[in-house]
Amino acid sequence: MLPIVALVGRPNVGKSTLFNRLLRKSRSITHDMPGVTRDRIYGECRMGDVRFDLVDTGGMCLESEATPELSKDFEDEIFEQAREAIEEAHAIIFVVDGKEGLTPLDEQAAEYVRRSGKPVLMLVNKVDGDEFAAEMTAEFHSLGLELLPVSAAHGYNLPDVRDRVRRFVVDLDMPADEDDGVERGLKLTMLGRPNAGKSSIINAIIGKDRLIVSDVAGTTRDSIDVTFEKKNKRYTFVDTAGVRRRANIQDHLEKISVIRALKNSKRSDVTILTIDITLGVGRQDKRLIEFLAREKVPFIVVVNKADLVPRNETNQALEAFRRELRIVPHVPIVMTSAHKGVGIGKLLPMAEAMRQECEIRIGTGLLNRSLQAVLERQQPPVVKRRRPKFFYVTQADEDIPTFVFFCNDHTLVKQSYARYLENQFRKMLGIKTAPVNVVFRSSH
Ligand code: GDP
Ligand code: GDP
Repeated sequence: MLPIVALVGRPNVGKSTLFNRLLRKSRSITHDMPGVTRDRIYGECRMGDVRFDLVDTGGMCLESEATPELSKDFEDEIFEQAREAIEEAHAIIFVVDGKEGLTPLDEQAAEYVRRSGKPVLMLVNKVDGDEFAAEMTAEFHSLGLELLPVSAAHGYNLPDVRDRVRRFVVDLDMPADEDDGVERGLKLTMLGRPNAGKSSIINAIIGKDRLIVSDVAGTTRDSIDVTFEKKNKRYTFVDTAGVRRRANIQDHLEKISVIRALKNSKRSDVTILTIDITLGVGRQDKRLIEFLAREKVPFIVVVNKADLVPRNETNQALEAFRRELRIVPHVPIVMTSAHKGVGIGKLLPMAEAMRQECEIRIGTGLLNRSLQAVLERQQPPVVKRRRPKFFYVTQADEDIPTFVFFCNDHTLVKQSYARYLENQFRKMLGIKTAPVNVVFRSSH
């Protein structure tokens, strides 16, 4: 596992801006895609020889998702998130707003951060240059934290931030890589509404096979990973405590568990979203599906409790689920009954196959021959009286198959043509169920 550095602070202090800035340096490709990084909450950073995960807790759910009934609990929610992030992190970047000055919320947050005993760097943001630094940071010294004036938007002092964060990570002295010679098994995350049957499915999968470990793992106290072996392969269900616990939480807290669930998904190879066939795709499921689709998470949808539906109605039910999943037509749907043991045996092989597809590496020669064939079959449509011209395509070194198309002007590539390219590439390269990323870049 990589060290985790969390960005903590009130909304609007500039966490997301900073998050994108820090990631841009290390993940050049994903960051050229509009809309992809905006909501990203979790990203791998490389700074020189060190790697770590940067987590942004604030931006996503509070801004794009805040509902009216939520705003009254706004501050509670922020703190709940901050607390989780602090607990999980190995080091903390605490962001405050130099323009607005010190607020009671900052003081409270600083208190949490200090009490955690973890290395903290406080960034006084929106200091748009040296000349304002002394004045704008003055009152923040009272918080008693190591402090640096920065401008996330304009880049002021960001090289310094990188330097210090890098040192934090080095000082943590954690094993930099999990590549210790032991074969890594498939990691799975189980998502779904309470009572959908997640625990029953995990139990049905594990069956009578030997449970190797069932202990408190990771950095979050109550995160329980369950590892087991099946046919000489090792599998882990990540955060099964979350699977159970979520049954009791209220709706408003559910937003936080969505964030947590997504973090787990990001750390897993494959996510399984379980839905109760008698209830269908609910609001929460829809939101999860949208997130998983947007974040390009490899996932399987399990439609459970099939035993409760008459056999002649199952096809109809499946079609309804297929419609709900039209934004991700590659995602497999499996009908199961945890009680009767139906469909359960398909899940692990399917997850294995999905991971294998994620690991596909395709040579430049084949990619470009494929591109030529695809272009010949259907030319890209003319946009603003210009036709996009594709020069070549390469596969980027990412966790999921990511194809970068270099063209004369990426703004000319229509969504529909991007979909066409993705579908054709999927067909030619045999990528059936894994997510695929297509990226367009202008090159002159
Ligand atoms: P978050 O809610 O903490 O993630 O904050 P955002 O990153 O969304 O930033 C909130 C607002 O502050 C946005 O309008 C940013 O453009 C602005 N902002 C961020 N960093 C700076 C900065 O360094 N200087 C100035 N002047 N504005 C900034
Ligand atoms: P979780 O909250 O998602 O972990 O759901 P559980 O595994 O605890 O299951 C919730 C309830 O649904 C329990 O009463 C289970 O016995 C029941 N259940 C789970 N799977 C099935 C199934 O395949 N068929 C039927 N009829 N009931 C199921």
